[in-house]
Amino acid sequence: MESKAITKIGVLTSGGDAPGMNAAIRAVVRCAFYYNLEVYGIYRGYEGMIQNDIRQLNSSDIAYVLERGGTFLKSARSAEFRTPEGRKKAYENLQQHGINGLVVIGGDGSLTGAHLFYKEFGIPAIGLPGTIDNDLSGTDNTIGFDTACNTAIEAIDKIRDTATSHDRLFFVEVMGRDSGFIAINAGIGSAAAATLIPEKKMPVEALIDRLNTRAKAKKQANVVIVAEGGKSGGALEISKKVKKYLPNYDIKVTILGHLQRGGSPTSYDRVLASKLGVSAVEGLMQGKCDVMAGVINNKVVYTPIKRAIVDDKEVDEEDFRVAKILST
Ligand code: ATP
Repeated sequence: MESKAITKIGVLTSGGDAPGMNAAIRAVVRCAFYYNLEVYGIYRGYEGMIQNDIRQLNSSDIAYVLERGGTFLKSARSAEFRTPEGRKKAYENLQQHGINGLVVIGGDGSLTGAHLFYKEFGIPAIGLPGTIDNDLSGTDNTIGFDTACNTAIEAIDKIRDTATSHDRLFFVEVMGRDSGFIAINAGIGSAAAATLIPEKKMPVEALIDRLNTRAKAKKQANVVIVAEGGKSGGALEISKKVKKYLPNYDIKVTILGHLQRGGSPTSYDRVLASKLGVSAVEGLMQGKCDVMAGVINNKVVYTPIKRAIVDDKEVDEEDFRVAKILST
């Protein structure tokens, strides 16, 4: 493959951090060097683009980052980038460095920003799906999702030990914003008594029925997984409703929170991030822009950003069915 117009690539991580972002940055840098391109790290996402927090990266910057959680470029949410004035400042800074290609690693908000920026200033941009929430279309899994599921399951296994020892009922809240991907995976992977996800409302009466059926069958240690942002409320809210029906139960709530964002990425996330980092650079060299690189059925696919950010990716019906069968 021959390098055409792209000579200097800017790379940034934006929005919520996700394990595997470092692996993606490393792959972008390594691949760019392979094709004799320069790479500039844009620190603190769009905020750093506006404040000219931009520095040329070399090999030593990416040594020993593949296995580290978080993002060494740091991430941020930038209110100023949402304004035309902010984006103009950002463009002028990129111009100053001669950056003529962008790789934006982040969630739907970050990719929306990349799409807008490309439309306004024409700098080719490729997005990579970097979010634990898995809520982007155009890829089976987002970077960080697998690690977050593993972290959640590991934590739930520990909670189960105490639940069993004391015959407690635990409500464990997992992340995922408005989507139930982490919840359904954690539910299946940790043998939860029930999994409450935003996509499917489960009336509290149905949950009580499920718990009573399990109690009759002498099934031990009830752990109920609750996705944050669910229509029926978070774990705390649901636990209070259940307590009214089951006053004799010893009910506890654990909110896993930000620990799900951290930690060393799993092998799956490292490989996914590495493949996508290479695809971003090669995509830019092939003249692709305003697209997100993702992996569908083990093949790299480029999807228009506008399509990838449409909020229509839902938990697989089959996963939901399996979770239900296995918890009843
Ligand atoms: P996560 O899903 O993990 O929270 P995200 O990328 O969706 O990640 P957001 O906070 O939604 O996180 O977006 C990150 C940044 O992208 C915002 O702080 C803002 O700078 C930029 N951004 C988001 N939406 C827009 C928009 N409509 N126009 C311009 N910039 C945007």
